[in-house]
Amino acid sequence: MTMIPAAGPNFQPASALDYMPRPELQQLQLHRLQTVIRRLWERVPLYRTRMNERGIAPEDIRSLADIVNLPFTSKTDLRDTYPFGLFASPMEDVVRLHASSGTTGKPIVVSYTQEDLDTWTSVMARAIASCGLHKGDILQNAFGYGLFTGGLGYHYGAEQLGSTVIPVSGGSTDRQIMIMRDFGVTAICCTPSYFLHLLDRGEALGVDFRQLRLRIGMFGAEPWTVAMRRHFEEAAGIKAYDLYGLSEIIGPGVAVECRCQDGLHVIEDHFYPEIVDPDTGEPLPDGEEGELVFTTLSKQAMPLARFRTHDLTALIPGPCPCGRTLRRIRRIGQRSDDMLIIRGVNVFPSQVEAVLLDVEGTLPHYQIVLTREHGLDQMEVQVEVTSRMFSDSLGALEALQKKLAGVMERVLQIRVQVTLVEPRTIQRSEGKARRVIDRRQA
Ligand SMILES: [Zn+2]
Repeated sequence: MTMIPAAGPNFQPASALDYMPRPELQQLQLHRLQTVIRRLWERVPLYRTRMNERGIAPEDIRSLADIVNLPFTSKTDLRDTYPFGLFASPMEDVVRLHASSGTTGKPIVVSYTQEDLDTWTSVMARAIASCGLHKGDILQNAFGYGLFTGGLGYHYGAEQLGSTVIPVSGGSTDRQIMIMRDFGVTAICCTPSYFLHLLDRGEALGVDFRQLRLRIGMFGAEPWTVAMRRHFEEAAGIKAYDLYGLSEIIGPGVAVECRCQDGLHVIEDHFYPEIVDPDTGEPLPDGEEGELVFTTLSKQAMPLARFRTHDLTALIPGPCPCGRTLRRIRRIGQRSDDMLIIRGVNVFPSQVEAVLLDVEGTLPHYQIVLTREHGLDQMEVQVEVTSRMFSDSLGALEALQKKLAGVMERVLQIRVQVTLVEPRTIQRSEGKARRVIDRRQA
């Protein structure tokens, strides 16, 4: 096989692997796929059982196309084997554990060997480089440090790249703004909802982000819209990039935008992407939207084959003008998990966000409240209005409310009750925003 040196001090620039010729990349992928499938078969009972049931053995993987014969892995499999049932390394080789927040029931636990941590650091260094950071940048890392993979993922990746990292973590918003200004911060990473909160608080404190040295924002861990990107870029005077990842696969660093901001390059030498029909599991051709599925090609402690992400996207056909040979996925505007079914109609919170960012006089702070009256679903959208709008006449507020209700009905195809609320009354998030309150079960 082709020997690819690990990213390290002797390997510059970090993003060189992003430009590998496709035949070489595919050869590397196949070699890694064969190795990882054998590891799963030999070490993880769940995979050996499922492969035996399908009559498939590791030696049956002769080409990358053979991947479709392998069984899927679901989030349920991770819960059912809680906490360590899918580990492929003995505990003495595991040097780190992370876990999902686990809002309902037990969390999902993920593990890393030292080699896995080195891989994670190198893919994050490449991802951060793709957003235009380099040695000399000062990164304010406002992702949470802890069991969540965001904080430490960015931390080691940015350090490897040579940037200065400020491990401020989430929360303490006023102090974040002070640090951003006083330390000459040039880049920030956090959830998009938290950056929205920072911008808002900055405005209240009279700090104009456009006057600061801040030039790059890297956002992830929750879906956000192109309209929100425009808002960030204009209000903060930055370039705003989307980074995609999930803890089951490694954490942040699975796919990332480049300067073209037209889709996210998948770090394909470590994570093999497929798009499948979410209902049938059948593979879909490039360009068609479906569910994103990943196979980890190099993980040691917890490799996963064909993990179903529930994220809806498509593989973009054709090369990217930036020259990277890694294939791209479309920005993930919605997760199938986030989809609300209201009176039989599919609604995504991101559609509401896009409407709000389009209409003058409102802020993209909103909450969706679902109730059931006489067996019928009701959807209320509570929206903050700008201070100027709020001090305006009652007639102007009524007109705005009518306009919003009209646009939402047109976009969402259902009747929506819009309630305008005073500025800064909807609870702010320091991590992932809670956009939906579903009271239909009550
Ligand atoms: Zn590109």
